Amino acid sequence: MRDGIEEGGWESHRPKLSYPFEHGPKTGEAVDIAPGVKWMRMPLGGALAFINVWAIADKAPDGRDGWAIVDTGISGMETRNAWRAVLQGPLEGKPVTRVFVTHMHPDHIGMSGYLTRKFDARLWITRLEYITCRSLAADTGREAPADAVAFFKATGWDEDALESYRAKFGGFGRGLYALPDSFHRLNDGDEVRIGDHTWRVVVGSGHSPEHACLYSPELKLMISGDQVLPKISSNVSVFPTEPDGDPLTDWITSLARIKTQIPDDVLVLPAHNDPFHGLHARLDHLISGHERGLTRLHELLAEPKRVVDVFSVLFRRPINENLLGLATGESLAHLNCLIARGQVVRQRDQNGVDWYRAAA
Ligand SMILES: [Zn+2]
Repeated sequence: MRDGIEEGGWESHRPKLSYPFEHGPKTGEAVDIAPGVKWMRMPLGGALAFINVWAIADKAPDGRDGWAIVDTGISGMETRNAWRAVLQGPLEGKPVTRVFVTHMHPDHIGMSGYLTRKFDARLWITRLEYITCRSLAADTGREAPADAVAFFKATGWDEDALESYRAKFGGFGRGLYALPDSFHRLNDGDEVRIGDHTWRVVVGSGHSPEHACLYSPELKLMISGDQVLPKISSNVSVFPTEPDGDPLTDWITSLARIKTQIPDDVLVLPAHNDPFHGLHARLDHLISGHERGLTRLHELLAEPKRVVDVFSVLFRRPINENLLGLATGESLAHLNCLIARGQVVRQRDQNGVDWYRAAA
């Protein structure tokens, strides 16, 4: 799910974070985080295994007690069954009042349409996440665009890799239940009252275009989505629709900004792994990890390289076919960041392949 490569051997000085919960909830169960805040998990295939979702005690517009949900899981029968189990079990059959989504990746937004339709509830999301999601979903069923094939060819992909890209193109929409057709816009800095508490919207960018975190000063809780994860370095990628994009600068800037917006004493509720204390140390570590990667990459580019030649300085794991797209996007994010800083230049050869080297 576009959620980065688990951190490996490069992480030699990982700060000690503390995890106050010994056990996470099983499918269909919930763990109480704070009064009126519950932690649940929705199953995911693949390496991540599950996504954390959250329920916050709320009042429906008609005054009935219910739950605001934050993030929803990927579309499919397994997730639907898990929702049925939590709604009848720990959520006591009360209605969903509204559905918050941190960002547009299918493991987060996937089942929002199921919940909003089932309960006649509104989707609350930032505008760029909503619009971007609709445009990506519209690619499902199309064939891979020539621009996208040229983009991956320029990174050094061989014909086999391009062929499997063409075959898999449009997969994004398959993780989505029919999207809600309307939404309530979240803006950076909004103060949203949910039940008895106020939650502030803190927007970040780089992993996705306008990712919303929710921070409650009273409860000292931060729902961080994929913006801050304790054990995974979130995927920050350049995609074919914007080949010259510089999401890594957005990402590093957002992490630094979160440190100024949210105090260190919050319990962070991330979308993957477990709730943790140690937000500021984690933010510092994520930033310094990218900066170290940028330095290693810059050194490597004393000799000209293609995108596919630089994986070893950014990822400790060998890059197999399944990871190729992710590694390519992330490598480009680092390369475009170095170009923006004036440290690297790019030149296209007569075969349409880009070569990167350190600027003289
Ligand atoms: Zn994500």
